[in-house]
Amino acid sequence: MTERPSYLFYQGRGRKPVLDQARGIYMWDTDGKRYIDGSSGAMVCNIGHGNENVLAAMRDQMERATFGYRLHFETEASERLAARTADLTPEGLDRVFFVSGGSEAVESAMKLARQHALATGQAQRWKVISRSPSYHGCTLGALAITSYAPLTAPFDPMMRAMPKVPAPRAYLDGLDPEDEATGLHYANMLEDRIIEEGPETVLAFFVEPVGGASTGALVPPRGYMERVREICDHYGVLMILDEVMTGAGRTGRFLASEHWGISPDIIVLSKGYAAGYVPLGAMVAHTRLVEPVLDEGGFQHGFTYAGNPLACAAGAAVLEEIERLGLVQNAATMGDALKSRLETLMDRYPIIGDVRGKGLLLAFEFMADRRSKAPLPAHLRAFDRFVQIAYDHGLIVYSRRTRGGVDGDHVLVCPPMIVSEAQLDEITDLLDRALAQFMDEIRP
Ligand code: PMP
Repeated sequence: MTERPSYLFYQGRGRKPVLDQARGIYMWDTDGKRYIDGSSGAMVCNIGHGNENVLAAMRDQMERATFGYRLHFETEASERLAARTADLTPEGLDRVFFVSGGSEAVESAMKLARQHALATGQAQRWKVISRSPSYHGCTLGALAITSYAPLTAPFDPMMRAMPKVPAPRAYLDGLDPEDEATGLHYANMLEDRIIEEGPETVLAFFVEPVGGASTGALVPPRGYMERVREICDHYGVLMILDEVMTGAGRTGRFLASEHWGISPDIIVLSKGYAAGYVPLGAMVAHTRLVEPVLDEGGFQHGFTYAGNPLACAAGAAVLEEIERLGLVQNAATMGDALKSRLETLMDRYPIIGDVRGKGLLLAFEFMADRRSKAPLPAHLRAFDRFVQIAYDHGLIVYSRRTRGGVDGDHVLVCPPMIVSEAQLDEITDLLDRALAQFMDEIRP
């Protein structure tokens, strides 16, 4: 790799290869090395890189206008994207507020919920309950409802701590995720917490339908999401779904919430929504929530770049491509195919203790012992080391040291939704080689 001075930093000091080109599921660095984008960036580039129709739509918009401030102009692109988004989300969720990323979308949802409470005579409602573990973003509001100590602890004194309930992690608690009693067990913890906090003070419950970076693709147990919806309805608590990672088709439905047929009060989208072509996100809220806020003087919140013409033109083109190429269905089909390949690897590599996920939001987890579910020793830094080995083999995967909030390493394998069966074989082969090398390295 060419030596170069470092003016950049991002989280750590590590130097990364310089990206030169990206097409489809492949990326090349400036040394000509090819990588398979096995995690779609951070579960972002859902339609693959370099999609010609999206690029054409962006070029066309750039020729016409790249920026118009939201308080001055709507654009044809923002109107079209909002209408299509309302079409793709449950009935009643018809008001779309654009932002530039997931954290901004989460902040916007928290603030809309609060302003709705104020506008409807419920000023005492302000607590936003979320789950542990969870990841909702890195801005201070989103961090206050995030539960992952390494990210939150430094900022605790600067945030108002929000209540947390355990996220379901049936496999670690020795419960059967297919048994509805398991779903009720975890959902009822939410009810207990609402009662303990005082239902009249609780504003909203925030949930990732399928865990992303927080839990490594943990799918909720049967009955959980439906029961959560009932509990929220019963106590007048808004149910807000963070579909930043799960949305736009990744789990084999346009929204993950469709798997359970539930309709939340607010949905937040980003990542795959514009698939990495531009920074874009959206908060999609029920009309019933937005109207009183607009009647009471408006939504006191906004971002300069929100809904800019270029972002909306790209976002609209991405949604068209998802539909034209049948990518939601492909995520479901290829997701099943990839999951069974990961299960085959699990049969061969005893350090894989669990394979899970939905559609193309898939992960495996390393364990020292499958029966006791003991994690690999922390000093191995498996999450880091395995990613590096895979990288050396030309495969990018995404990994974290947390599993259901306790010690352990999971690896997300989430290629773009355009992936083919032959490309799944390529990915599996590279994983196989990386696993073999990792096993060799840690063998005592
Ligand atoms: N919510 C979830 C579920 C996420 O996965 C992420 C990003 N990993 C965010 C919110 C924050 O999004 P962003 O990084 O675009 O601010």
